[in-house]
Amino acid sequence: MMNSKLPETGTTIFAVMSNLAHEHNAINLSQGFPSFNPDQALLDLITHYLNNDGNQYAPMVGVPSLRKAIADKVSMLYGRSVDPDTEVTVCDGATEGLFSAIQATVHPGDEVIVFDPAFDSYEPAVTLAGGKTVHIPLIETADNPDYHIDWDRLENSLNERTRLLILNFPHNPSGAILEAEDLDRLAAIVRDTNVYLISDEVYEHIVFDGADHQSFARHDELWERSFVISSFGKTYHATGWKVGYCVAPPALTDEFRKIHQWVCYAVVSPIQYAIADYMVKTPEHYKALPAFYEEKRDRFCDLVSGSRFKFRPSKGTFFQILDYSDITDEDDASYAKRLTREIGVASIPISVFCEKIPNVRELRFCFAKDDNMLEKAAERLCRL
Ligand code: PMP
Ligand code: GLN
Repeated sequence: MMNSKLPETGTTIFAVMSNLAHEHNAINLSQGFPSFNPDQALLDLITHYLNNDGNQYAPMVGVPSLRKAIADKVSMLYGRSVDPDTEVTVCDGATEGLFSAIQATVHPGDEVIVFDPAFDSYEPAVTLAGGKTVHIPLIETADNPDYHIDWDRLENSLNERTRLLILNFPHNPSGAILEAEDLDRLAAIVRDTNVYLISDEVYEHIVFDGADHQSFARHDELWERSFVISSFGKTYHATGWKVGYCVAPPALTDEFRKIHQWVCYAVVSPIQYAIADYMVKTPEHYKALPAFYEEKRDRFCDLVSGSRFKFRPSKGTFFQILDYSDITDEDDASYAKRLTREIGVASIPISVFCEKIPNVRELRFCFAKDDNMLEKAAERLCRL
């Protein structure tokens, strides 16, 4: 038997639920990926680079045209002028960006605060760095029924061992977003500390109801200590490409790159060249994304509104939480599996993202799907 470095780690819930969905031929609203393809123009650009010298190693930090396109976007959307050479790194999906940023900041014995429900790749990366993950639950309160940070609890949880906070808004799985005042509140809490921040902003372009995405790149004080991480997988309907990026001030980017180069050295080249061209030629794509997904959210919510599930429409991401407490008291992991087997609709239980099982009965459904899939799934959910 090997002496495991991650003895607590089983198979990620995304693989578990997608495999179960496949086994039972269920409609798979579990793992977050679109059922539709990227824009044909983007696919054509990739084909072009595959056929025209785009197939050798990219530079370790990412191809220059893509880093420039990212820097231009960050400047245009968030008003932060970043240097593509010293502050932008293309990485192997947001997952590698998160992993490398965590390895770059966390030393043995350091504490890292995450907010539950927290995306499942954070804690193993902290553990491998020798750090300790401290879980703070997001809360739902009478005056703010969406999942949000308990700022007082956060403030009281910081100590001299706290090295890093990892935040993720728009939030997977709840769809909660941040307001501008939240950034100020966070800045006040980390002021005069040595704490770094990772802002997992993979759903930066999927924010609804006219709200603005509160990137940490917008905020002067937060920016100085932040690794801002995003993923082209979500933005371009291409989760299988695993191309993302990390934007951070030069000193942080230096340390990030020291890790990144040993994790993967560089990222798939033809896709980088193609995304760069596409970002310049077609900025409408990400600008249209909120409306595109808002329509899907509204359709899905409308379709399940006649069911016994309760919900508040998601504020961002392509996930919708449904509360099943009026249907059964069963725990969410068992219920998600049973629904997959018995009615053929797969979802993700929330408790797997939490250190302490929360006292809620909620499942996460991905609505990045064609209308006929959403209609079929909702019809089955309405029968419960
Ligand atoms: N963070 C969050 C919150 C996510 O939902 C995902 C989903 N894929 C990732 C990171 C990882 O992104 P990527 O697929 O680009 O590695
Ligand atoms: N981010 C996706 C989700 O939340 C899945 C990512 C993965 O499979 N690792 O469903």
